Amino acid sequence: MTILLLLLASGETYLTREQALKLVFPNGETVVERVVDLDEPTRARVAERYGAQVSPRQTVWAGLRDGKVSGFAFILTETTKSLPATFIVGINRRGEVTEVAVMSHEDHIGTDCRREDFVSQFDGKTNADRIRVGAGKGLLHVSGATLSCHSIARAVRKALAIVQHHFLDRPESLRALEQDEPVRQKRYVMGTFCTITAYGDPQAVEAAFEEIRRLDKVLSNYDEKSELSRLHRERSIEASADLLAFVVESRKYSERTRGAFDVTVAPLVSLWGFKEGKFRVPADDEIAAALKRVGPGRVTAEGKRVVLAEGTELDPGAIGKGMALDRAAAILRKAGVKRALLDFGSSQAAIGSWEVAVRDPFEGGKVLGSVSLRDESLSTSGSYEKFFKANGTTYGHILDPRTGRPVQGVAGVSVVAPTATESDAMSTATFVRQELPEGLDALLVTGAGEQRPSEGWRKRFKKGGN
Ligand code: AMP
Ligand code: MG
Repeated sequence: MTILLLLLASGETYLTREQALKLVFPNGETVVERVVDLDEPTRARVAERYGAQVSPRQTVWAGLRDGKVSGFAFILTETTKSLPATFIVGINRRGEVTEVAVMSHEDHIGTDCRREDFVSQFDGKTNADRIRVGAGKGLLHVSGATLSCHSIARAVRKALAIVQHHFLDRPESLRALEQDEPVRQKRYVMGTFCTITAYGDPQAVEAAFEEIRRLDKVLSNYDEKSELSRLHRERSIEASADLLAFVVESRKYSERTRGAFDVTVAPLVSLWGFKEGKFRVPADDEIAAALKRVGPGRVTAEGKRVVLAEGTELDPGAIGKGMALDRAAAILRKAGVKRALLDFGSSQAAIGSWEVAVRDPFEGGKVLGSVSLRDESLSTSGSYEKFFKANGTTYGHILDPRTGRPVQGVAGVSVVAPTATESDAMSTATFVRQELPEGLDALLVTGAGEQRPSEGWRKRFKKGGN
């Protein structure tokens, strides 16, 4: 019995939400998701057209082109024979149906309603049209799928009525959608610019920047008053949760990358002049001496106590911004923000779906293309960020902790990961290892300009840009 029920209820999914929205908005419009409240008269009109009560709150997707609404999409669920089916209905700004598609159909009977010759009958219909299925009623049904065809017609009537009565009859609600611009703020934090674009409360964006500043007060290796500077002076301290997390996370990535990522590179970073911008090529014995103070095991955390071995210092440069982005994103999420992009230039954290530019490692201002992120992060490590030339050789700021020298032969690495901490640490480590990381989508660009994408990267990457 259970097996039979499962079989009957197994159903089919034809389109994900993303695919369905792409059908309605194929031209790269900005798509905003909104919950609208239908007032009482509107609700009554929609209910009349639909043939049943409707909920006062409705989710609608609107496509925006040049700040103007170009169309609407509704994702609506109706019962077919006895189980639910979900449809997407696309309607343009003139109130005409542009798209009807079945996203999922739980009943195993009636799935033929998705046939193109049936759904295409809705094209161009408006709220003024009679939208009924049956002999002499205008719309021909698919035999064997009668109930499902009726369900689609109900969904279309409901969507058309909402568009007509809530939006087209009331230009102010259209304008409300059009004026729904994201908040965008750019601030100088952690020694560089950070831009946050968020659909939501400006206060939440402020709080996110505040969080980044707060973490900078812990992790800065330029600020004498930071907790990290205190650790460098006192060598052994009871650390805050944030400093502890930095040490623990860093050690985790050192292990994962066999020491390619190593926050204890600080003495080498200073030796080559990358910390103060006073670049020079040190002598071999200087490098050997600095290397003695470097190694992931030279910083330890036990309980809350963090201890540095003699001469060791920590450089947060390869992971700090990623950590800060994750913290700031958590603040936005907590404030209810469903869509935001936090951009540090070298790392981006996406809340919701975003298309993010990938920098050209040979020209910082140019882009190679873009990758799609959904609740993920992208980090790019490049020698173009900080480098100097001496005797015909270019020395970049990413150091190989095994040799004590700047990595040669790589122009840039981009890595996508679930968190910005991970993408930041792993892009730096991949730059050192010159081997694509396991389990993450990544691109390595060699010094000769050869692009080596992973399989997953290829799928999410779109070439071109400026
Ligand atoms: P990123 O731009 O995230 O790749 O970080 C590069 C920065 O991290 C450099 O400017 C240094 O401050 C620091 N760094 C350099 N080499 C390493 C390394 N092998 N492991 C960890 N941090 C490094
Ligand atoms: Mg990094």
